[in-house]
Amino acid sequence: DQAGELGKEWQLYDDEIDRQLDWRLSLASELNEALAAGDIWVAYQPKMAIASGQVTAAEALVRWQHPQRGAILPDAFIPALEASGRILDLTLFVLGRAVADAASWAAAGTPINVAVNVSALLATDVKFLTAVRAMVADGSIDPSLLTLEVTESATMADPQRAITALEQLAALGIGLSIDDYGTGQSTLTYLKRLPAKEIKIDKSFVLGLADNRSDQVMVRSTIELAHELGYKVVAEGVETQSILDVLTAAGCDYAQGWHIGRPIRASDFEMKFCARLAA
Ligand code: C2E
Ligand code: MG
Ligand code: MG
Ligand code: MG
Repeated sequence: DQAGELGKEWQLYDDEIDRQLDWRLSLASELNEALAAGDIWVAYQPKMAIASGQVTAAEALVRWQHPQRGAILPDAFIPALEASGRILDLTLFVLGRAVADAASWAAAGTPINVAVNVSALLATDVKFLTAVRAMVADGSIDPSLLTLEVTESATMADPQRAITALEQLAALGIGLSIDDYGTGQSTLTYLKRLPAKEIKIDKSFVLGLADNRSDQVMVRSTIELAHELGYKVVAEGVETQSILDVLTAAGCDYAQGWHIGRPIRASDFEMKFCARLAA
Protein backbone atom coordinates (compact mmCIF):
# COMPACT_ATOMS: atom_id res chain seq x y z
CA ASP A 1 0.00 0.00 0.00
CA GLN A 2 0.96 3.59 -0.55
CA ALA A 3 1.58 4.61 3.05
CA GLY A 4 3.81 1.57 3.49
CA GLU A 5 5.82 2.42 0.41
CA LEU A 6 6.23 5.97 1.62
CA GLY A 7 7.36 4.69 5.02
CA LYS A 8 9.96 2.53 3.33
CA GLU A 9 11.25 5.50 1.35
CA TRP A 10 11.59 7.55 4.49
CA GLN A 11 13.43 4.69 6.17
CA LEU A 12 15.89 4.57 3.29
CA TYR A 13 16.24 8.33 3.41
CA ASP A 14 16.93 8.26 7.17
CA ASP A 15 19.50 5.50 6.76
CA GLU A 16 21.24 7.49 4.07
CA ILE A 17 21.36 10.59 6.27
CA ASP A 18 22.73 8.49 9.15
CA ARG A 19 25.45 7.10 6.93
CA GLN A 20 26.45 10.56 5.81
CA LEU A 21 26.50 11.87 9.37
CA ASP A 22 28.54 8.87 10.42
CA TRP A 23 31.35 9.32 7.98
CA ARG A 24 31.50 13.04 8.58
CA LEU A 25 31.65 12.58 12.34
CA SER A 26 34.34 9.94 11.98
CA LEU A 27 36.51 12.50 10.19
CA ALA A 28 37.24 14.14 13.53
CA SER A 29 38.95 10.99 14.77
CA GLU A 30 41.16 11.01 11.67
CA LEU A 31 42.40 14.58 12.16
CA ASN A 32 45.80 13.85 13.73
CA GLU A 33 46.62 11.18 11.19
CA ALA A 34 45.55 13.44 8.32
CA LEU A 35 47.65 16.35 9.59
CA ALA A 36 50.68 14.09 9.99
CA ALA A 37 50.20 12.61 6.52
CA GLY A 38 49.93 16.05 4.90
CA ASP A 39 46.38 15.32 3.66
CA ILE A 40 45.20 18.62 5.10
CA TRP A 41 46.53 21.68 3.34
CA VAL A 42 45.82 25.37 2.98
CA ALA A 43 44.67 26.96 -0.28
CA TYR A 44 44.94 30.71 -0.89
CA GLN A 45 42.41 32.77 -2.79
CA PRO A 46 43.41 36.27 -3.91
CA LYS A 47 41.67 39.43 -2.70
CA MET A 48 42.16 42.22 -5.24
CA ALA A 49 42.23 45.91 -4.35
CA ILE A 50 39.72 47.20 -6.91
CA ALA A 51 41.19 50.70 -7.32
CA SER A 52 44.72 49.50 -8.20
CA GLY A 53 43.84 46.08 -9.61
CA GLN A 54 46.58 44.60 -7.38
CA VAL A 55 46.29 41.46 -5.29
CA THR A 56 47.43 42.59 -1.85
CA ALA A 57 45.70 39.98 0.30
CA ALA A 58 44.52 36.38 0.32
CA GLU A 59 42.09 34.20 2.21
CA ALA A 60 43.40 30.91 3.59
CA LEU A 61 40.88 28.12 2.90
CA VAL A 62 41.52 24.71 4.38
CA ARG A 63 41.37 21.57 2.19
CA TRP A 64 41.32 17.85 3.06
CA GLN A 65 42.55 15.41 0.45
CA HIS A 66 41.19 12.19 1.93
CA PRO A 67 42.84 8.94 0.79
CA GLN A 68 39.45 7.18 0.39
CA ARG A 69 36.93 9.98 -0.05
CA GLY A 70 38.91 12.33 -2.25
CA ALA A 71 38.79 16.11 -1.87
CA ILE A 72 36.54 17.19 0.99
CA LEU A 73 35.49 20.81 1.32
CA PRO A 74 35.46 22.57 4.70
CA ASP A 75 31.67 22.79 4.96
CA ALA A 76 31.72 18.97 5.17
CA PHE A 77 34.29 18.60 7.96
CA ILE A 78 34.40 21.85 9.98
CA PRO A 79 31.06 21.03 11.71
CA ALA A 80 32.38 17.60 12.75
CA LEU A 81 35.58 19.14 14.14
CA GLU A 82 33.56 21.75 16.03
CA ALA A 83 31.24 19.10 17.48
CA SER A 84 34.13 16.95 18.68
CA GLY A 85 36.29 19.72 20.11
CA ARG A 86 39.03 19.38 17.46
CA ILE A 87 38.50 22.75 15.75
CA LEU A 88 41.19 24.50 17.83
CA ASP A 89 43.88 22.10 16.57
CA LEU A 90 42.80 22.51 12.96
CA THR A 91 42.68 26.29 13.24
CA LEU A 92 46.14 26.48 14.83
CA PHE A 93 47.46 24.36 11.96
CA VAL A 94 45.91 26.68 9.34
CA LEU A 95 47.14 29.73 11.25
CA GLY A 96 50.66 28.30 11.42
CA ARG A 97 50.76 27.65 7.66
CA ALA A 98 49.18 30.99 6.82
CA VAL A 99 51.56 33.09 8.89
CA ALA A 100 54.58 31.12 7.63
CA ASP A 101 53.55 31.65 4.01
CA ALA A 102 52.74 35.32 4.62
CA ALA A 103 56.15 35.79 6.26
CA SER A 104 58.00 34.20 3.37
CA TRP A 105 56.13 36.30 0.79
CA ALA A 106 56.85 39.45 2.82
CA ALA A 107 60.53 38.52 3.09
CA ALA A 108 60.62 38.19 -0.71
CA GLY A 109 59.39 41.79 -0.98
CA THR A 110 55.75 40.98 -1.76
CA PRO A 111 53.73 41.46 1.43
CA ILE A 112 50.37 39.70 1.24
CA ASN A 113 47.93 40.08 4.12
CA VAL A 114 46.56 36.60 4.86
CA ALA A 115 43.10 36.03 6.33
CA VAL A 116 42.25 32.96 8.41
CA ASN A 117 38.68 31.88 9.21
CA VAL A 118 37.87 31.49 12.88
CA SER A 119 34.75 29.52 13.67
CA ALA A 120 32.13 30.88 16.01
CA LEU A 121 33.11 28.56 18.84
CA LEU A 122 36.73 29.69 18.83
CA ALA A 123 36.22 33.43 18.49
CA THR A 124 35.52 33.71 22.22
CA ASP A 125 37.65 30.75 23.35
CA VAL A 126 40.36 31.66 25.88
CA LYS A 127 42.57 28.79 24.65
CA PHE A 128 42.52 30.24 21.15
CA LEU A 129 43.32 33.75 22.36
CA THR A 130 46.15 32.40 24.51
CA ALA A 131 47.63 30.40 21.62
CA VAL A 132 47.49 33.37 19.25
CA ARG A 133 49.03 35.66 21.86
CA ALA A 134 51.89 33.19 22.34
CA MET A 135 52.51 33.03 18.58
CA VAL A 136 52.69 36.82 18.42
CA ALA A 137 54.97 36.98 21.48
CA ASP A 138 57.48 34.40 20.17
CA GLY A 139 57.65 36.14 16.81
CA SER A 140 56.00 33.39 14.78
CA ILE A 141 53.20 35.78 13.79
CA ASP A 142 53.69 39.25 12.35
CA PRO A 143 50.25 40.56 13.35
CA SER A 144 50.24 43.23 10.64
CA LEU A 145 50.20 40.48 7.98
CA LEU A 146 47.28 38.63 9.56
CA THR A 147 43.52 39.09 9.47
CA LEU A 148 41.01 36.89 11.28
CA GLU A 149 37.62 36.42 9.63
CA VAL A 150 34.74 35.98 12.06
CA THR A 151 31.14 35.55 10.93
CA GLU A 152 28.62 38.08 12.13
CA SER A 153 26.51 35.30 13.67
CA ALA A 154 29.51 34.21 15.75
CA THR A 155 29.35 37.49 17.60
CA MET A 156 25.58 37.50 18.18
CA ALA A 157 25.12 34.73 20.77
CA ASP A 158 26.92 36.68 23.48
CA PRO A 159 27.84 40.12 22.09
CA GLN A 160 29.59 41.43 25.20
CA ARG A 161 31.81 38.37 25.40
CA ALA A 162 32.57 38.60 21.69
CA ILE A 163 33.47 42.29 21.96
CA THR A 164 35.88 41.57 24.83
CA ALA A 165 37.55 38.64 23.04
CA LEU A 166 37.89 40.43 19.72
CA GLU A 167 39.27 43.55 21.40
CA GLN A 168 42.06 41.44 22.87
CA LEU A 169 42.90 40.01 19.44
CA ALA A 170 42.77 43.47 17.87
CA ALA A 171 45.06 44.78 20.62
CA LEU A 172 47.72 42.36 19.36
CA GLY A 173 47.69 44.24 16.06
CA ILE A 174 45.77 41.57 14.14
CA GLY A 175 43.14 42.75 11.65
CA LEU A 176 39.55 41.58 12.07
CA SER A 177 37.01 41.07 9.31
CA ILE A 178 33.28 40.34 9.52
CA ASP A 179 32.60 37.38 7.21
CA ASP A 180 29.34 36.47 5.45
CA TYR A 181 27.89 39.91 6.12
CA GLY A 182 24.19 40.12 5.32
CA THR A 183 23.33 36.53 6.23
CA GLY A 184 22.86 37.15 9.96
CA GLN A 185 20.44 39.33 11.85
CA SER A 186 22.93 42.00 12.84
CA THR A 187 23.13 45.58 11.69
CA LEU A 188 26.23 47.55 10.84
CA THR A 189 25.56 49.81 13.78
CA TYR A 190 25.70 46.77 16.09
CA LEU A 191 28.85 45.51 14.37
CA LYS A 192 30.36 48.95 14.95
CA ARG A 193 30.87 47.89 18.58
CA LEU A 194 33.36 45.26 17.38
CA PRO A 195 36.96 46.28 16.57
CA ALA A 196 36.73 45.07 12.94
CA LYS A 197 38.10 47.12 10.06
CA GLU A 198 36.54 45.19 7.22
CA ILE A 199 33.27 43.56 6.25
CA LYS A 200 32.85 40.85 3.63
CA ILE A 201 29.56 40.89 1.78
CA ASP A 202 28.34 37.30 1.51
CA LYS A 203 28.50 35.74 -1.94
CA SER A 204 24.75 35.11 -1.93
CA PHE A 205 24.29 38.86 -2.55
CA VAL A 206 27.11 39.07 -5.07
CA LEU A 207 26.63 36.09 -7.39
CA GLY A 208 23.58 37.59 -9.13
CA LEU A 209 24.70 41.19 -8.85
CA ALA A 210 24.88 41.82 -12.59
CA ASP A 211 21.12 41.36 -13.06
CA ASN A 212 19.37 41.29 -9.68
CA ARG A 213 18.06 44.76 -8.75
CA SER A 214 17.45 44.04 -5.08
CA ASP A 215 20.97 42.64 -4.64
CA GLN A 216 22.30 45.79 -6.31
CA VAL A 217 20.38 47.95 -3.85
CA MET A 218 21.55 45.88 -0.88
CA VAL A 219 25.19 45.93 -1.97
CA ARG A 220 25.27 49.65 -2.86
CA SER A 221 23.65 50.75 0.39
CA THR A 222 25.85 48.41 2.45
CA ILE A 223 29.00 49.83 0.87
CA GLU A 224 27.84 53.38 1.43
CA LEU A 225 26.93 52.85 5.08
CA ALA A 226 30.04 50.74 5.74
CA HIS A 227 32.24 53.53 4.39
CA GLU A 228 30.47 56.09 6.55
CA LEU A 229 31.22 53.89 9.55
CA GLY A 230 34.87 53.56 8.53
CA TYR A 231 34.94 50.00 7.18
CA LYS A 232 36.68 48.64 4.11
CA VAL A 233 34.38 46.40 2.08
CA VAL A 234 35.24 43.09 0.41
CA ALA A 235 32.80 41.36 -1.93
CA GLU A 236 33.15 37.56 -2.19
CA GLY A 237 31.76 35.47 -5.06
CA VAL A 238 32.98 37.77 -7.84
CA GLU A 239 32.61 35.29 -10.68
CA THR A 240 32.40 37.63 -13.69
CA GLN A 241 33.65 40.93 -15.08
CA SER A 242 30.10 42.32 -15.05
CA ILE A 243 29.85 41.68 -11.30
CA LEU A 244 33.20 43.41 -10.86
CA ASP A 245 31.91 46.37 -12.93
CA VAL A 246 28.90 46.81 -10.62
CA LEU A 247 31.16 46.63 -7.55
CA THR A 248 33.63 49.11 -9.04
CA ALA A 249 30.82 51.58 -9.75
CA ALA A 250 29.54 51.09 -6.19
CA GLY A 251 32.95 51.96 -4.71
CA CYS A 252 33.70 48.52 -3.25
CA ASP A 253 37.28 48.24 -1.96
CA TYR A 254 38.24 44.57 -2.56
CA ALA A 255 37.01 41.78 -4.81
CA GLN A 256 37.40 38.05 -4.17
CA GLY A 257 36.07 35.31 -6.43
CA TRP A 258 36.72 33.01 -9.36
CA HIS A 259 36.99 35.94 -11.78
CA ILE A 260 40.03 37.15 -9.82
CA GLY A 261 41.33 33.69 -8.94
CA ARG A 262 40.33 30.33 -7.44
CA PRO A 263 41.79 29.01 -4.18
CA ILE A 264 45.19 27.48 -5.08
CA ARG A 265 48.31 26.03 -3.46
CA ALA A 266 50.81 28.41 -1.82
CA SER A 267 53.46 27.73 -4.46
CA ASP A 268 50.98 28.48 -7.26
CA PHE A 269 49.77 31.61 -5.48
CA GLU A 270 53.34 32.77 -5.18
CA MET A 271 54.06 32.22 -8.89
CA LYS A 272 50.84 33.78 -10.07
CA PHE A 273 50.27 36.72 -7.74
CA CYS A 274 53.47 37.52 -5.84
CA ALA A 275 55.43 37.64 -9.10
CA ARG A 276 52.92 40.12 -10.51
CA LEU A 277 53.12 42.28 -7.38
CA ALA A 278 56.91 42.35 -7.59
CA ALA A 279 56.90 43.36 -11.28
P1 C2E B 1 33.95 31.69 3.61
O1 C2E B 1 34.95 32.12 4.61
O2 C2E B 1 32.77 32.60 3.38
O3 C2E B 1 34.78 31.43 2.28
C1 C2E B 1 34.34 31.74 0.98
C2 C2E B 1 33.90 30.50 0.24
O4 C2E B 1 33.44 30.90 -1.06
C3 C2E B 1 35.02 29.49 -0.03
O5 C2E B 1 34.44 28.19 0.00
C4 C2E B 1 35.45 29.83 -1.45
O6 C2E B 1 36.08 28.77 -2.12
C5 C2E B 1 34.11 30.17 -2.07
N1 C2E B 1 34.25 31.02 -3.25
C6 C2E B 1 35.25 31.90 -3.52
N2 C2E B 1 35.05 32.55 -4.66
C7 C2E B 1 33.88 32.09 -5.17
C8 C2E B 1 33.14 32.40 -6.35
O7 C2E B 1 33.49 33.24 -7.16
N3 C2E B 1 31.97 31.72 -6.53
C9 C2E B 1 31.53 30.78 -5.65
N4 C2E B 1 30.37 30.16 -5.92
N5 C2E B 1 32.21 30.47 -4.51
C10 C2E B 1 33.37 31.13 -4.28
P2 C2E B 1 35.16 27.00 0.79
O8 C2E B 1 36.62 27.05 0.57
O9 C2E B 1 34.40 25.77 0.45
O10 C2E B 1 34.92 27.38 2.29
C11 C2E B 1 33.62 27.37 2.83
C12 C2E B 1 33.63 27.89 4.25
O11 C2E B 1 34.38 27.03 5.09
C13 C2E B 1 34.28 29.26 4.38
O12 C2E B 1 33.37 30.25 4.00
C14 C2E B 1 34.63 29.26 5.86
O13 C2E B 1 33.49 29.64 6.62
C15 C2E B 1 34.92 27.80 6.14
N6 C2E B 1 36.37 27.59 6.23
C16 C2E B 1 37.28 27.50 5.25
N7 C2E B 1 38.53 27.31 5.75
C17 C2E B 1 38.40 27.31 7.10
C18 C2E B 1 39.33 27.19 8.20
O14 C2E B 1 40.53 27.06 8.05
N8 C2E B 1 38.78 27.23 9.46
C19 C2E B 1 37.45 27.40 9.67
N9 C2E B 1 37.01 27.44 10.91
N10 C2E B 1 36.56 27.54 8.67
C20 C2E B 1 37.02 27.49 7.40
MG1 MG C 1 36.00 33.65 5.10
MG1 MG D 1 32.45 34.55 3.50
MG1 MG E 1 30.69 31.64 3.64
